[in-house]
Amino acid sequence: MPRQFFVGGNFKMNGTIKSITDIIHNLNQAPLDPGTEVVIAPPGLFLLLVREHLKPEIEVCAQNVFDKPNGAFTGEISAEQLADAKIGWSLTGHSERRVVLGESDSFIASKTAAALSGGLNVIFCCGETLDQREANETIKVVTHQLAAVKEKTKDWSKIVIAYEPVWAIGTGKVATTEQAQEVHAAIRKWLAEEVSTAAADETRIIYGGSVTEKNCAELSQQADVDGFLVGGASLKPAFVDIINARQ
Ligand code: PGA
Repeated sequence: MPRQFFVGGNFKMNGTIKSITDIIHNLNQAPLDPGTEVVIAPPGLFLLLVREHLKPEIEVCAQNVFDKPNGAFTGEISAEQLADAKIGWSLTGHSERRVVLGESDSFIASKTAAALSGGLNVIFCCGETLDQREANETIKVVTHQLAAVKEKTKDWSKIVIAYEPVWAIGTGKVATTEQAQEVHAAIRKWLAEEVSTAAADETRIIYGGSVTEKNCAELSQQADVDGFLVGGASLKPAFVDIINARQ
């Protein structure tokens, strides 16, 4: 079975009730490729608003999730609470949480496992910094981040892997198609060797980092690029063109 093309929109800490309502309206009206699975991740404050008004074919994703089901954890939200609110997905491991909030590989792996056992699907993000790429450590860094998840998770059927080179996020410097394909192929090889051939065949590996309506078509044609995680451009009407990249 071919892997279904997947496009996620990560709004990060952007938007107001008005601007997010406009985005919902735009997505509800737009002709979207029925072959693409679309998931959007607004700030936590707006998850319920988006779920209530967005057409049901588009899934809603939290940008963050905690690794415990409930309790005295001020400011956190659990997978169980998200699932109860019909929020079916969470991001984990985004580089902004790794770098700005200091989340470690092992904490991210715990959050990923907790999200899955709480009933969510996960977009797990991995990627190297510029220094790591220049030191030829890209594959080592990415597989190390994946290995932390493997320690706590056996079932990869509800995980989408987002390869997001840190140097490409929000910088306007998109990875070349060759750079993206090379890392995606290495991730798929790692899945085959460390998880299973079924996981390697079935897991979507999506690219993130300065994806726009201009560069998405070429990237989408790479054998191991199964879609995109889009930041800045997901706030714009051109997000629709990225969803329809394969048309
Ligand atoms: P960007 O962000 O598209 O704005 O580069 C991607 C991401 O951080 O998911």
